[in-house]
Amino acid sequence: MLTDTPLSVQLETQADDRLRVLVVGAGIAGLTLAQLLRHDGLHPVLVDRMPRMEHPGYMLALMPTVDQAFIDLGVQDRYRAAGTPMARYSFRSHRGKVLRTDSMSELLSVYGDYTGISRGELIEVLTADDTPVSFGTTVGEVADGVARFVDRDGRPVGEAPFDLIVGADGIRSRMREVLDAGEPDVVETGWSGWVAWADDLGDPGLGEELWGDGFFLGVYPVKGRLGVFLGGPDAALAVGPAAFAASVLDRVDEIGPRLEASLAAVRADPDPYLWRLDDARMSRWVLPNGILLGDAAAGFLPTAGIGAGMAIEAAWMLARMLRGADRVALPAVLAAWERVERPRVEAAQANSRMLAKLMFRRGRVIAWLRETVMRMLSVRAALGPIVKLVAERPDPDAVARGALAAPVGSEGRSRF
Ligand SMILES: Cc1cc2nc3c(=O)[nH]c(=O)nc-3n(C[C@H](O)[C@H](O)[C@H](O)COP(=O)(O)OP(=O)(O)OC[C@H]3O[C@@H](n4cnc5c(N)ncnc54)[C@H](O)[C@@H]3O)c2cc1C
Repeated sequence: MLTDTPLSVQLETQADDRLRVLVVGAGIAGLTLAQLLRHDGLHPVLVDRMPRMEHPGYMLALMPTVDQAFIDLGVQDRYRAAGTPMARYSFRSHRGKVLRTDSMSELLSVYGDYTGISRGELIEVLTADDTPVSFGTTVGEVADGVARFVDRDGRPVGEAPFDLIVGADGIRSRMREVLDAGEPDVVETGWSGWVAWADDLGDPGLGEELWGDGFFLGVYPVKGRLGVFLGGPDAALAVGPAAFAASVLDRVDEIGPRLEASLAAVRADPDPYLWRLDDARMSRWVLPNGILLGDAAAGFLPTAGIGAGMAIEAAWMLARMLRGADRVALPAVLAAWERVERPRVEAAQANSRMLAKLMFRRGRVIAWLRETVMRMLSVRAALGPIVKLVAERPDPDAVARGALAAPVGSEGRSRF
């Protein structure tokens, strides 16, 4: 459970830690890292700019690359109980016809499940142990390892020195600026989409996508319901969710009761969550005054369903590598973490950018060409690079040992 805790209490609790860690942003990446470090005996200070946890209620599908984080936290049973395996995936034509259905279970069976879970339930799983966080708090400035905290209105609320400052404040990160990280490389699709919930009318393990001419409809199972995503070019969305969903219904022939109910859910939601479909990639994660993690380091387009999965993996790798690290070893360990993890995250991001080129294109001819490609391209081929990442995850303990054995100074100059 997340417990709103005064900053002074968190700072006092941390005073004797071998590494004083500050995590800015209590989202998926920040919570995973903070909880894993707590399990390893540290007391990371965790702050979030929001006045309380207002997690947008959207659905997430997580690759099995995340499982080890839940095992290390001792919450794997809770994770299994809160999620549901997405066993199959159907691709539909722009008119709604099912063109192919692939087994996700077969694709990933050796490694685990592709698990559908709502963001709220995931946060509850991650915070099964008591999780102190100071809400309404962020960092305005960092200098020489000292973080200056401010409230939501920018008023100072304290300062403290840290050995490691982690910017985990999401895709529109402010910590990039605070840590002088420079500007991200961004892919802007010019598309956005609404997220809503529908009742699952049977077939609970089936995820479906309909790539239309100028719209995209995806339904993804979580426990007991379906997460619905309805997207389109920004200009076309100006009519609002209800009218846009109605126009989509006019443009399809045979979508069946499940997808019809999904469109009805978007129409019925008075204020569905709107997601801008941009991504962001930082060329460096380890900076002179701190590091970036999760979407702040690399935020994803939704096309491969892997952003949260890679954020959890990067947090888990870091936590494991920090297990044996003290202040002296920190620079070498962080450099090794970035060297191993960033290329993996960028490979997953490249896969989602490649799929975006197929998805965010308008026109009947394009839709027809895409369908011809997708008839031949199995999920195995489309997600091949990601399955390879799942299969080839490095051993963080070995990477950390290698970093600690390397000659001092071989990782270059940095405060860390
Ligand atoms: C609709 C939708 C569907 C998605 N589906 C999938 C999926 O199926 N599979 C998948 O793997 N990924 C999916 N993703 C992506 C996934 O949600 C993100 O990759 C993941 O949440 C990244 O975690 P994060 O901790 O980096 O950022 P977030 O989870 O966004 O958390 C950032 C946190 O930082 C806080 N914050 C923001 N600014 C500040 C600040 N200045 N100071 C302090 N705190 C701050 C925020 O309040 C928030 O708590 C989806 C995303 C969306 C929006």
